[in-house]
Amino acid sequence: MTAAIYARRASKSVLVLEALTYGGQIINTPDIENYPVTAHISGFEFATKVYEQAQALGAEFVFAKAVDIIDGGSEKTVVTADNRYTCKAVIIATGSQNRKLGLPNEEELTGRGVSYCATCDGAFYRGKTVAVVGGGNTALEDALYLADLAKTVYLIHRRDEFRGDEKTVSALKARETVKFVYNSTVTALIADKKLTAVEVTDKSGSVSTIELDGLFVAVGRVPENMNFAKLVKLDEAGYIAAGEDCRTDTPGIFAAGDNRTKSVRQLVTAAADGASAATEAIRYISSL
Ligand code: NAP
Repeated sequence: MTAAIYARRASKSVLVLEALTYGGQIINTPDIENYPVTAHISGFEFATKVYEQAQALGAEFVFAKAVDIIDGGSEKTVVTADNRYTCKAVIIATGSQNRKLGLPNEEELTGRGVSYCATCDGAFYRGKTVAVVGGGNTALEDALYLADLAKTVYLIHRRDEFRGDEKTVSALKARETVKFVYNSTVTALIADKKLTAVEVTDKSGSVSTIELDGLFVAVGRVPENMNFAKLVKLDEAGYIAAGEDCRTDTPGIFAAGDNRTKSVRQLVTAAADGASAATEAIRYISSL
């Protein structure tokens, strides 16, 4: 949406294709406090403001998933289930999706005790026992959010050091209801129609069971690039190989945000990518 704002301000026609709703993963964040200008804002409110800004500038939004891009040189075609859109440049800003634990019954238990979104599903676990798996900012923030709702929150991490911010770790350590389970991975989901417990294996191989009502999986994200793999070069982890200028190896195709190779995946860097990608796309169009 930042790219749309920049491109509209340069008087380009802009179509934004959104597979589900606007805003991407930030809409699941209850409180943003690391984006300049505002000390606190919910992800949904933030995304809505950007959406309204882009719309007011004349960007057109269509809610449909881009399933393919056909590169015809100076003319590209973006394909959705019902339509085909032609344009001169395409910015792929498809972000990433939740990484799964990869356990056999994980999919069938999703929505039956297994969740990937604490702010969406946390309210179902008021007064109950839950666990969060992971050691990044998402896991830490999810655990803190759930600590206000649940009776007990286990935080299960495969190491004894967290990848996420120290400030959130300290806040969690101050909560009596949060129990840290270090050097451990979830090795089985135990269920009777819905999740009832998890099997946890620690680094020494010792296996234990934690009875719980809900498991929140926050073990990182995987890029949403597979629809475009034949079009642009991906790195070993599946991210689009594009640098700070957001240019891919295919002229006229740009990548912005969490789906490109980069070291800092934050709201502010995603917005910055939008600005860079749109600026480069405008340059590219001028060169045609
Ligand atoms: P992340 O930073 O990649 O962390 C993923 C965590 O899951 C890591 O601790 C990792 O362990 C663990 N993990 C990965 N695969 C696992 C597996 N199969 N089993 C068990 N544990 C596994 O992902 P994230 O927390 O979703 O964050 C993604 C990006 O968004 C990060 O850049 C993060 O800083 C950013 N973010 C920022 C904010 C904020 O600034 N407010 C909020 C949320 C997210 P290891 O540590 O051992 O690798």
